[in-house]
Amino acid sequence: MNRRNATYVGGKTVSVLGAARSGLASARLLVDHGANVFVSEYGAMLPSAKETLIQLGVAFEDGGHTPRTLDCDFMVISPGVPSTVPIVVQTQKAGIPVFSEIEISSWFCEAPMVAITGSNGKTTTTELIGHLFRTNGSRTWVCGNVGTPFADVCDKTSPTDIVVIEVSSFQLDHIDQFKPKVSLLLNVTPDHLDRYDYQFEKYAASKLRIVQNQDASDMVVFNADDQELRKEFGSKRGNGPLQYAISIEKEVQQGGFLLENQLVLRKNNQNETLMYVDELALRGRHNVFNSLAAAVAARVMEVRSDVVRESLKTFSGVPHRLEAIREVDGVRYVNDSKATNVNAVWFALESFTEPVVLIAGGRDKGNDYSSLRPLLSGRVRALISIGEAAERINAELGSCVSDSVIAESLADAVKLAHLLAKPGDVVLLSPACSSFDMFNNYEDRGDQFKQLVSNI
Ligand code: ADP
Repeated sequence: MNRRNATYVGGKTVSVLGAARSGLASARLLVDHGANVFVSEYGAMLPSAKETLIQLGVAFEDGGHTPRTLDCDFMVISPGVPSTVPIVVQTQKAGIPVFSEIEISSWFCEAPMVAITGSNGKTTTTELIGHLFRTNGSRTWVCGNVGTPFADVCDKTSPTDIVVIEVSSFQLDHIDQFKPKVSLLLNVTPDHLDRYDYQFEKYAASKLRIVQNQDASDMVVFNADDQELRKEFGSKRGNGPLQYAISIEKEVQQGGFLLENQLVLRKNNQNETLMYVDELALRGRHNVFNSLAAAVAARVMEVRSDVVRESLKTFSGVPHRLEAIREVDGVRYVNDSKATNVNAVWFALESFTEPVVLIAGGRDKGNDYSSLRPLLSGRVRALISIGEAAERINAELGSCVSDSVIAESLADAVKLAHLLAKPGDVVLLSPACSSFDMFNNYEDRGDQFKQLVSNI
């Protein structure tokens, strides 16, 4: 299979679905490589998006997709557009290829790619790996879901750079040749099931596509404590990527694990003791895992172990992920607005030994909250539910805690938390839900929380 490149794109007619960050970056990349681009947006396009497209000389439409969208050599679909929308189904039925932004961007990327996927920990691990390579002195591009679209970056890369990409399952749904040098599969736990016909298998299969084009010259770093991933890896896979397992529960043959509170890497039967858990910049058990995964990814790309150690000590963390805001009257306030699914809340709760006043809720994504019950019973002093899912959360979890209330707004929730928390407690916003019922996005939710806390 020849790698697609500028020759494939030049002169082609391409429809781009979605006119947000990813779609606009795709349109620009395709225009730069000589394609005739048409952008179609189902909702209303922002004036700034229209302005960008006019400057690029790209035709567009919004408020729905007309048949013109179908008139293309291939389609590029933004991650926000479900694969099940009629226009995408029709395109595929007509035998027209549908690609994601990371797929088309990879055609132009000269640098080796380290790609990170999973249900939780992607952004943290992506930023951490970026920090590792930067500390190592490599010209490093951190992109993908994490902020800058890959399409904005790919043309600037050279073979001695490193590209670190956070990849969502929606992007993986439409890859064809995307072939990372190192792929990381952090975990596969239920999330976004609303976009996978409520079938976990479909969602898991989508994550596993990250290794689809990798061969024996590539590497996969996977979570050996995750039963889905353990099923998939661990046995010899013909011509597949070299496997590195990560575990915080047991020793592994090749990869990274915890031994007597120290991070240990193992390659070719040689153990390398990296550092104590207490020396890591990031707190929480899940971050021990993320740090191990990042360390292995860097080591297999020949980053020296002293550089890895130094980087894991100095990483400053990522906003909205267990972000400490301030202490008021002996109570610590922590913003974990990015915890948009149940598993993330589980790990957040697990990382505190103090009693927690938990603020949770938002837009339900087909969640089953019951797995939180054992953790809530031991650690949560009070549960404050907000948003569309408030009634459900209160009904499913309220009986495990002594105080369970529904708040009308985030502002009310913060007031209630202030009343219910005792010195030594942690007030934790860790919603288990998406933010779109009351906020623009999780950053907006986290920022408003920080503002409210700073006004206490
Ligand atoms: P993602 O980009 O996959 O959404 P983030 O790094 O933004 O992941 O973290 C999202 C949430 O998941 C945060 O609340 C964080 O505390 C939690 N988290 C981070 N790493 C892990 C992990 N390895 N397993 C489970 N939860 C995690």
